Amino acid sequence: MDVQREMNPYPDDYAKASEHLRQALALLSKHQIPPSPLNYRISYDVTAGRNEKLKGELVQHLIAATEAASDDTLWELYAKHFIQDDLALDELRKELRTVVTSLQDEFKRAGGNIAGYTSTLSRFAGILDKESSTEQISTEVQQVIHDTRDMEASQSRLENQMAHVMTEMEAMREELEQVRKESLTDGLTGIANRKAFDTAIEQTLRVAQDTNQSTCLLLADIDHFKSFNDTHGHLIGDKVLRFVASTLKRCIKGKDTAARFGGEEFAIILPNTDLTGARTAAEQIRNEISSGTLINKNRGEAYGSITISIGIAKLNQDDNVLDLIHRADESLYLAKSRGRNRVEFAGAA
Ligand code: GH3
Ligand code: MG
Ligand code: MG
Repeated sequence: MDVQREMNPYPDDYAKASEHLRQALALLSKHQIPPSPLNYRISYDVTAGRNEKLKGELVQHLIAATEAASDDTLWELYAKHFIQDDLALDELRKELRTVVTSLQDEFKRAGGNIAGYTSTLSRFAGILDKESSTEQISTEVQQVIHDTRDMEASQSRLENQMAHVMTEMEAMREELEQVRKESLTDGLTGIANRKAFDTAIEQTLRVAQDTNQSTCLLLADIDHFKSFNDTHGHLIGDKVLRFVASTLKRCIKGKDTAARFGGEEFAIILPNTDLTGARTAAEQIRNEISSGTLINKNRGEAYGSITISIGIAKLNQDDNVLDLIHRADESLYLAKSRGRNRVEFAGAA
């Protein structure tokens, strides 16, 4: 049951899924796309920020199409993003099967050859034990030479086959590693995605609680981002997300993890860090972002300041992941309500 729940690709709760539904339908209706189950799934993933590649391709398509999106393109997008991944894995599995089967065949053939060769050799040994004629020995020697050549050829075929399998396996290992990396990276910003964050926070919690290490979590949210998008457009908004992500990456060190938590929210895991350290790190990040400038290349002027609010949570011994995130969220709310572009910690120091 738990395994099945883990495999559920849409674990959103009622409130979240309803919000995504509203946005997904709004997007479909805005572009006059029929809300069929397939189109809805595309729209849901895009508006919920679940698939940045798909989003980029849909946006490009909508810009190119200017009016309504064609059914064909949406179907292509669906096939590429929801079916293609399974197909690619299937293809990989098939390739691996072929390689392994041909190796099995080669081993069977080699096994047969070895059995034949062994009996040739024992026959030859028997002849040497007896008082055999020179002629008999000479004929047998010819046979042994012949069979040894066959054996050599079969061994070298086997070696080639094994070298080929090693190369194939190595290429597949790299391909799988690439797929694994992509599945843990946020397509838009290039930093860890929510899935990678979930794994990292679970692991950090386990280590911190086992070793009694002080650990903190930061939740950062871009201030007034909706109005920034409304003023400058979604594509410039995306640039801001990349700018914030790269600043986070630059500011963190060692075992820290910076991840895109969702939409315009980021999470930073700070293992082995006390509250004072977390405040310093958060202030540095806040400061770096508010003092950076994003320039409009066409006009050469700045887009106006970008600021973020940050909430801090400190791990308690009996916390689970949700407790920690919940308290970081409360601190973030405090930072927003106290005027934004601030760092806050809602708990007792
Ligand atoms: P606050 O200061 O209270 O956080 O205000 P806000 O406007 O930032 O917050 P709100 O939650 O109202 O709006 C979040 C906005 O973030 C709305 C949404 O369009 C935008 N957003 C979320 N994900 C993306 C994205 O991937 N790209 C862009 N460009 N915008 C995004
Ligand atoms: Mg937000
Ligand atoms: Mg915001």
